[in-house]
Amino acid sequence: MRVLSVASEFYPLIKTGGLADVAGALPAALETQGVEVASLLPYYPAVKAQVPSGRSVHSFPDLFGAPARLLRARLGTLDLFLLDAPHLYDRPGGPYESETGAPWRDNARRFAALGLAARALGLGKVSAYPRPDIVHAHDWQAGLAPAYLALAGEVRPKTVMTVHNLAFQGQYPATLLSELGLPPTAYSTDGVEHYGAIGFLKAGLYYADKITTVSPSYAQEIQTTEGGMGLHGLLSGRSADLSGIVNGIDTAAWDPQTDPNLAARFSARSLSRRMANKNAVRERLLLMQDNSPMFVVITRLAWQKGVDVLIDALPQLVASGAQIAVLGAGDAALEAALMGAMGEHPGRVGVQLGYDESFAHLLQGGGDGLIVPSRFEPCGLTQLYALRYGAVPIVARTGGLADTVIDANKAAVDDGVATGFTFAPMTADALVDAVQRALTLQAKPYLWRALQRRGMSRRLSWAARAPDYAALYRGLVGAG
Ligand code: ADP
Repeated sequence: MRVLSVASEFYPLIKTGGLADVAGALPAALETQGVEVASLLPYYPAVKAQVPSGRSVHSFPDLFGAPARLLRARLGTLDLFLLDAPHLYDRPGGPYESETGAPWRDNARRFAALGLAARALGLGKVSAYPRPDIVHAHDWQAGLAPAYLALAGEVRPKTVMTVHNLAFQGQYPATLLSELGLPPTAYSTDGVEHYGAIGFLKAGLYYADKITTVSPSYAQEIQTTEGGMGLHGLLSGRSADLSGIVNGIDTAAWDPQTDPNLAARFSARSLSRRMANKNAVRERLLLMQDNSPMFVVITRLAWQKGVDVLIDALPQLVASGAQIAVLGAGDAALEAALMGAMGEHPGRVGVQLGYDESFAHLLQGGGDGLIVPSRFEPCGLTQLYALRYGAVPIVARTGGLADTVIDANKAAVDDGVATGFTFAPMTADALVDAVQRALTLQAKPYLWRALQRRGMSRRLSWAARAPDYAALYRGLVGAG
């Protein structure tokens, strides 16, 4: 079985969120299932810096204004196709935005180009790469891949569209239709049209043979008016083809026994060593070194993540005796509000702004708990890392958070199945209530340690998830 995975992000080469982790980790995990994966991604400067060369295997004489080519390269055991189109990708700034945070004006062309490259590979037009069995597109940036393949009118691979976050849809003006190489007939509800525009994600969801998302609960939520973000009609209509598979984590990169980012490494049998990490966090964020529990937050600063609600809850959390340590980057207003909160609660609330992978590890290794107050959460990775690191997750009861954390209500504690705390609705009061329940349990160290150890024993690796994707692929190919 051969699969072409198409995504705009790929850990460790280029990452803005969980999508990168999935696209980077799934290929190796699928190998053990007898699935051979090649990954297609844009040749961003960050990718080029880490994979400086490749074999040129295909050329596009004119890919939206200039020539481009496909490079094939290896990264360890991984098989990569890099879309080298300097006029589209070779620029400073992020993959989607300039350094000032403005979306690149040619994003429609930049990611249509990714779709066209996927079409060339998917139809077997690239030398030494016969037609794969499956093309697996991730998120809106790859959304045109299933559309281009379906519209090509040739024998084509089966297609899978995975939604990592329905909030990002890639909507572009209908006037681009012919420039993007889409036929006029495709501009329809039964096609790429979405609310008077070309919807990249919509196109993928419409044309793909199967749709997956990153947790069973999110797969349900996106079929509802509240959670469907304008796509619930299409998604509920395709419910027979839609399933949810929870993300795995990279258990080698996230291993508290070997993690070089930690002040002290530890295992489920040496949880007291976590204290050195807690103190290292406190030192860095100028938090008081006392007996208080410390809850950590690691997040993009965006509406989705509920950081505004966390900020509302801070006075009560601090009054409960907790310390809060936040690592976040994003929205300027939320950044300012967090800095303000730190000033109001010196020694009790600590904030580091910016993206800092290494500090994220230290926080997981030192926090007594991790708070995730998301308004919606397709899967969420931070709570999975927290489980592995013995930071008890306290999460909003939504999407993948609800699927991966078992609330420590009395029955679950008695049965020995609880792994954290969940709360709903997503309000400051409910969040505070959940933290207070955590504080109550923490006062009984043997129960708290049992909770930590149970989380640490969960099978969270991609090896545990890959069989689900392999089964999906096999079902699709076997279906003929
Ligand atoms: P999303 O993809 O919506 O941002 P996830 O929980 O699925 O949310 O994945 C977030 C990933 O990004 C995790 O690997 C998390 O550790 C990391 N992360 C988020 N914010 C930061 C930050 N400020 N610094 C370092 N890592 C971060």
